[in-house]
Amino acid sequence: MSKHNRRAVLGYSAAAIGAGAAGCLSTAEASSETEESDELEIIGDDPDLPTVAILATGGTIAAEGDDGDLTGYSAGEVEGVELVSGVPQILDHANVAVDQIANVGSSSITEDELLDLAHRANELLSQDDPEFAGVVITHGTWTLEETTWFMNLTVDSRKPVVSVGAQRPPTAISPDGPLNLVNAVRVAAAENAREKGAMLVMNEEINAARDVTKSNAYRVNAFRSGELGVLGYADADEIVFNREPTSSRHTYNSEFDVSGMEELPNVGIVMSHQEASGVALDALVEEGYDGVVVHGHGSGGLAPDMRETVREEEYDIPIVRTAQSMNSRIQDSEGYRDDGIISGEDLAPLHARILLRLALTETDEFDEFVRIFGEY
Ligand code: ASP
Repeated sequence: MSKHNRRAVLGYSAAAIGAGAAGCLSTAEASSETEESDELEIIGDDPDLPTVAILATGGTIAAEGDDGDLTGYSAGEVEGVELVSGVPQILDHANVAVDQIANVGSSSITEDELLDLAHRANELLSQDDPEFAGVVITHGTWTLEETTWFMNLTVDSRKPVVSVGAQRPPTAISPDGPLNLVNAVRVAAAENAREKGAMLVMNEEINAARDVTKSNAYRVNAFRSGELGVLGYADADEIVFNREPTSSRHTYNSEFDVSGMEELPNVGIVMSHQEASGVALDALVEEGYDGVVVHGHGSGGLAPDMRETVREEEYDIPIVRTAQSMNSRIQDSEGYRDDGIISGEDLAPLHARILLRLALTETDEFDEFVRIFGEY
């Protein structure tokens, strides 16, 4: 969707909010009381509340299906402003502005949307008028951990960047999206959520971008942060944090600057398994990939044939290995380093792929890749 069309949709939908949202503004009030700022309309007019920007991209949280059904719906159908209008309780916690970045299922998210999101979040969070307290990204859950981690590395702000999705569409019985969205806005508006990097909020749990992964396809407690656990909770009375993110290099402290970038280096993932050969790895290299993540056994081991291929071929692109055993860091190994294979530390392969894409925007040096994987 072009930026021009996005604004047009927003103009139309802002009026719809005034007409549709209980406890929100009437149509007439909407036209007189909404305020234009940087092309986004502010919904809600409580001067004592913070303002949060919502960047909408689609997913199940914005899906449409048959009344009451839990399955068989179509993701990315409802515009962000309509989502907000369906949950007027949001305005008890913040005034909001909605920008429609995309409206797709999250397996269709590409570098275009990632870069649009990062550019927009950076722009809005550095703006003074109005001053946005934080950003919420509504998104499908399938690739939500990838986008959250990308934002963690590319948004240069101390303010909260919060991703949210839903396991059930708004048309299902007992949808989880409305409470998830309210809680995401609350976390984005919270003073104590600053300097924690990007977070994923669902099921009243606040997860750190670095640790979180989707671990259940159907249940509302879909996201887990492994043995490290959640950062905190969006409790009904307050936003509570129990720990800090495990890496201090994120958001305002990250070296990655994607401003002005329109594309990213291409990184693929292959998985080791019993009898894995180097064929898949070779295919990606032949295809012109800029880097490859190999998801290794246990603590990051490669099957002998696959490892032999890396040794013999001496690829001139970085190969990063990750550990299949979740929660395990890869311990340093001279042997793997001598073979030119970089440790992905304790990152999951999806996370390592994103970090490698960003690292490749800065360097092609083996030692630099090692440093970057050690620091983020
Ligand atoms: N297909 C959906 C998506 O990722 C799933 C979800 O949102 O939960 O967009």
